[in-house]
Amino acid sequence: MNEKIIVFTDLDGTLLDHSTYLYSDAEEALRLLKEKQVPLILCSSKTKDEIEVYREKLSINEPFISENGGAIFIPEQYKGLKCEFDKVYDDYLVIEIGSEYKTLVDALKQIKRNTGVNIKGIGEYTVDEVVELTGLNREEASLAQKRRYTLPFIINGGDEDVKNIKNEILSLSLNYTEGARFVHLMGANDKGKAVKILVDIFKKNYPDTRIITIGLGDSLNDLPMLEAVDKAFLVKKESGKYEKRIKVENLVYADGTGPVGWNKAILSLFNK
Ligand SMILES: [Mg+2]
Repeated sequence: MNEKIIVFTDLDGTLLDHSTYLYSDAEEALRLLKEKQVPLILCSSKTKDEIEVYREKLSINEPFISENGGAIFIPEQYKGLKCEFDKVYDDYLVIEIGSEYKTLVDALKQIKRNTGVNIKGIGEYTVDEVVELTGLNREEASLAQKRRYTLPFIINGGDEDVKNIKNEILSLSLNYTEGARFVHLMGANDKGKAVKILVDIFKKNYPDTRIITIGLGDSLNDLPMLEAVDKAFLVKKESGKYEKRIKVENLVYADGTGPVGWNKAILSLFNK
């Protein structure tokens, strides 16, 4: 049976450096994936518009997963791939998993009222404030605010406040996860669900090929993705430590922070 490797990767703090958003430390591995024609699927908490900037920079035309598994975007005509989808948008077949953004905005207001904790959704910040919070440039920061399926927000409070907020989210039958900078309010989506759906599509379209899935991440929001792949790599966070809450069977701890670890992890797959 033929084998095909597919790589799923987080962006912020994993392929991209936490502070500079650069992937220069991973160039060698990126070249190797291109050479071997291994699909690189970006799977991020970033929005569609933000991810498109990186697809262009990396010159890749693969499907991608936005907003923590909120939606899957498959380029129309991509390798003749056939699948069910919810809509066609901007030349993509879109599979929608997340909640509607407006529902989340209303829910966040309610959570704020019910808990009295000072929380603020990404849409309530000015572009300049998002620049300040994230280190993104102005253009990227405004793309980050164009949410469709998840709502990143910041909690200004102590541990007890954080606990109350999380309980309130669950009591509204919503969910949350944590990236490096924001807590993300969301519906039933996570990165793992989206990865499974996409892998299933690949498997159905390539019945005679053994698909081997690789996943790379750094933060708690990557856990479901790392659980959904055959081989999971965890890179070190900016602090130089691994995210302790990520426990996955046979997890490989990549030796390096962000793109440095990413580079070594991918090279190790090909014994380089
Ligand atoms: Mg990350």
